[in-house]
Amino acid sequence: MDINRREFLKITGASTIVGLLGGWKAVELLAPGELEAKYLPKTEALTAKRWAMVVDNKKMDEKTAKKCIEICHRIHNVPDIGDPKREIKWIWLEPFENAFPGQRQEHTAERLNGKPLIVLCNHCDNPPCVRVCPTKATWKREDGIVMMDQHRCIGCRFCMAACPFGSRSFNWGDPRPFIKKKNPEYPTREKGVVEKCDFCAERLAKGLIPACVEVSNGALVFGDLADPKSDVRKTLRTHYSIRRKPHLGTNPQVYYIV
Ligand code: SF4
Ligand code: SF4
Repeated sequence: MDINRREFLKITGASTIVGLLGGWKAVELLAPGELEAKYLPKTEALTAKRWAMVVDNKKMDEKTAKKCIEICHRIHNVPDIGDPKREIKWIWLEPFENAFPGQRQEHTAERLNGKPLIVLCNHCDNPPCVRVCPTKATWKREDGIVMMDQHRCIGCRFCMAACPFGSRSFNWGDPRPFIKKKNPEYPTREKGVVEKCDFCAERLAKGLIPACVEVSNGALVFGDLADPKSDVRKTLRTHYSIRRKPHLGTNPQVYYIV
């Protein structure tokens, strides 16, 4: 079944909508030949007061990180352009020093030197990208997810200039020829629009956790920050964590155990 972008926005915009298409596990999308037989029974949307993610770098090795990136880009039809200047990325690896500028000092643990860390949109509580968008093509949902509507995007790239994390990518050309294998359940984009991670809003609407979390072997933890019993709260309670560029005041909601 194909889905156009307007239908997609209807699903992702209302987190209470029960899954329209049935849920597919991310791991199943890795084996597309078997998809039809593997609908999940779970149909209720996952909801939260404040979604957040923890990246546990003690558990995240490079192989797992690559799995997370691969599944995200595959199910979201992220093109593989092959040119770093026009690259589209929703989740990627950055050396520790780039991800956390100024945090490295003489006695920083050696294991962090140049270590590639997984990074994505921080779904900031105070997102500058949202404030500068002239068409409201990007907005923050009540549950904290910072969304993107490519129909409203006019390609001004103010949001990209405002984001201090490089979390947004711009389609300089038609991305469709660069999608290796199209996922018909997710819309493709077109030339002249911005895109980024949406915390898998379309999967949450179907009762599924984000795909990267699902394949991460526990290295990514996702849940409701407002719920003291949630996995994210438990993880943050028992581990020291840091966030990217907290001094800028965007209040990122992706936490890192380093
Ligand atoms: S990381 Fe960037 S794109 Fe994501 S919410 Fe924060 S400012 Fe916006
Ligand atoms: S939460 Fe979903 S959209 Fe965001 S990086 Fe993970 S898989 Fe991609």
